[in-house]
Amino acid sequence: MTVDVEDYFQVSAFDPYISRQSWKNYEGRVESNTDRILQLFDQFDVQATFFTLGWVAQKYPAMVKRIVDQGHDLASHGWDHRRVTTLSRKEFSEDIAKAKVTLEDVSSTPITGYRAPSYSFTLQNDWAHDVLLEQGYHYSSSIAPIKHDLYGIPDAPRFAHICANGGILELPITTTRLHNKNYPCGGGGWFRLYPYAVSKWAINRVNARDNESVIFYFHPWEIDPEQPRVSGLNLTTRFRHYQNLASMEGKIARLLDDYKWRTIPEVFSNDLANVTQN
Ligand SMILES: [Zn+2]
Repeated sequence: MTVDVEDYFQVSAFDPYISRQSWKNYEGRVESNTDRILQLFDQFDVQATFFTLGWVAQKYPAMVKRIVDQGHDLASHGWDHRRVTTLSRKEFSEDIAKAKVTLEDVSSTPITGYRAPSYSFTLQNDWAHDVLLEQGYHYSSSIAPIKHDLYGIPDAPRFAHICANGGILELPITTTRLHNKNYPCGGGGWFRLYPYAVSKWAINRVNARDNESVIFYFHPWEIDPEQPRVSGLNLTTRFRHYQNLASMEGKIARLLDDYKWRTIPEVFSNDLANVTQN
C-alpha cells in the first residue's frame, strides 16, 4: 500500500491553474487528511509506504514524524511535484536531493525510496534511475506501464524489476492485462470512478494469474470531499479530480479490510536484498 502525500492544490492537473508561488495562499488540508489515513491504517492493521513531497515535510514536520512513529515507510515524492518530463537531468538531481535532505532531517530516517510525480519516468528521461542510484536510493515506483494522455510507458515491464544500472528496484504501478493491453488497477482516478467490485476483480486477477503483489496508491485529498473547489478547471480535469470523492474513504476501508497490505520494503524484501548487495 502506498500514499502520495501532497495537498489538493499541488496535483499535476492543476499546474496550468495554480502557480507554485501561490501555494502558500491555499488552505492546507494534507495534515488532517493524512492523520485520517493513519487512523484507518491503524484500524485495519495496515503498514504503508508514504511518498511525501519535501515541500510538505518542511511545512508539516510533526505529521511526518507521526507517519514514521507508527511504523510506516517514509519515501520521497520529490520537492514540489515537478514532473520529471519537465526537468533536465541536473534539475531532477537538485529536486530529489533537496527533498531527500529535508525528509531525512525531519524524520531522522534514511530515505531510500522515490516515486516520480504523476509517474513521469518515460522513455525521454531514461537517465532518471541513474540519478536515483547516484543519490543512494534503492527503489522507485515511478513507471505506469499503460497508455495514457499524461503519462506512461505502455511496453514497460509490469512488475518489480531491477533497472539496467543494477542498483535500483523499479516497482511499476500495478496493471491487469486484458486482450494484450494493460489496464491500471493500482488506484488513482480509475479506482474512484469504477465500482469497488471491478477493482476487486482486477486485484484478485493479478494475485492469482500473475502471482504478484499489487502496488496500490491514493492521495490524502481523495478522501476529502469538503476540500475547497478550484475554479476555472476544464471539464476533464474537474471530473478526474472531484468524481466520487465522497465514497472514496468507504471504498478504501473495504480494500484495507479485504487484503493484507504492507510497506514496499517489507513486501519486496527479497528483491531489495539483491539490489542493496550491489
Ligand atoms: Zn503526486
